[in-house]
Amino acid sequence: MAPHVAVIGAGAFGGWTALHLLRAGARVTLLDAWGPGNARASSGGETRVIRGIYGGNRRYVELAARSFALWWEHEARWQRRLYHRTGALWMFSGDDGYARSTLPLMREIGLEVAELAPSDAAKRFPQIDLAGVRSAFYEIEAGYLRARQACETVVEGFVAEGGEYRVLSVRPTPMSGGGMRRLALADGTTLEADRFVFACGPWLGQLFPDVIGARVTPTRQEVFFFGPPPGDTRFDDGHCPVWMDFGERFVYGIPGNDRRGFKVADDTRGPAIDPTTEERLPTPAAIARARELLARRFPALAGAPVLETRVCQYEQTPDGHFILDRHPAADNVWLAGGGSGHGFKMGPAVGELVAALVLGTGEPEPQFALNRLP
Ligand SMILES: Cc1cc2nc3c(=O)[nH]c(=O)nc-3n(C[C@H](O)[C@H](O)[C@H](O)COP(=O)(O)OP(=O)(O)OC[C@H]3O[C@@H](n4cnc5c(N)ncnc54)[C@H](O)[C@@H]3O)c2cc1C
Repeated sequence: MAPHVAVIGAGAFGGWTALHLLRAGARVTLLDAWGPGNARASSGGETRVIRGIYGGNRRYVELAARSFALWWEHEARWQRRLYHRTGALWMFSGDDGYARSTLPLMREIGLEVAELAPSDAAKRFPQIDLAGVRSAFYEIEAGYLRARQACETVVEGFVAEGGEYRVLSVRPTPMSGGGMRRLALADGTTLEADRFVFACGPWLGQLFPDVIGARVTPTRQEVFFFGPPPGDTRFDDGHCPVWMDFGERFVYGIPGNDRRGFKVADDTRGPAIDPTTEERLPTPAAIARARELLARRFPALAGAPVLETRVCQYEQTPDGHFILDRHPAADNVWLAGGGSGHGFKMGPAVGELVAALVLGTGEPEPQFALNRLP
């Protein structure tokens, strides 16, 4: 008989895991406290970068390539535009090992990338000032994904294919006999299942204080959307690529965003927060840093107004790698999270991987194992 699997969390990791489990023949109930891509979730907001340059890490390049394929396949299947192919320009003012070490892997795995002389990059993208940039790389297939909309679409697809989706907050119940038998639901009832996947993003540490705890730390991240001048299309997704600027800090941005403006974000990890209670208001210091970056790299936007802001959180592991592993005290409980600021694009491939683990057709990978973390 098909196992009944409860997946808790309908973000990038949980939604795709539920879909792959369903397609592999499981009966699946997907639960989320506030819904897919909600404003507190790490998968919320407009857009996320998808790219293949990954610091020379073969496994991530493979997962990115698999995810590209699954995003394309599902866009066509669902007739919904989720991926925008803008290309991505990587700019390095110092050590460019993060990109350079990935080039042979990308070519081997089939993701197109080119090194550009900074002077050529400046000619190609005249809206970007490359002063101080010593090396530049251009990823052809890279671009951005529509984040909240993609999460909603995955859940719609899951329900259309026969999955059960419920909006409810869930608590794990104590293990008995080496496993978990049921979930405690916020409406006072319980839900029994054969297997459980907790894909609760930044909440994983609160739900499993002993096993996860600070191994997943929610860090405060601020995002700004600046308004280009009227009629100026140089900063929209038809003319400007996704960009990454590795200088003293790693700052990146995304054009387009459904006309919300030109997105700028700083990848530096902020202070730890509680994802449920955090007031999501931006700080003047972060706005000032974003403006300084704009003035330097995108001079035409130096005086651009802030149109919108977001405060999100990374769900950060100590080494920045995901956690995709079995609960050490339960044979039938799996933990999927630790996206650490780069998990969204990988949702489709991570979901496939976690579904295989849960159904016993895949093996846990050391890079994503819980016991690698102190
Ligand atoms: C500002 C920012 C920029 C980013 N940029 C990128 C990028 O460019 N590219 C990229 O690939 N990644 C990026 N990331 C990272 C990526 O977005 C995350 O790693 C990914 O979305 C995490 O997905 P998740 O499913 O693990 O978590 P979440 O999206 O947080 O999903 C967890 C879900 O669990 C639910 N939940 C939690 N507790 C319970 C409970 N007790 N009961 C029921 N439901 C519960 C929540 O409501 C939530 O919907 C970025 C993240 C941020 C914040």
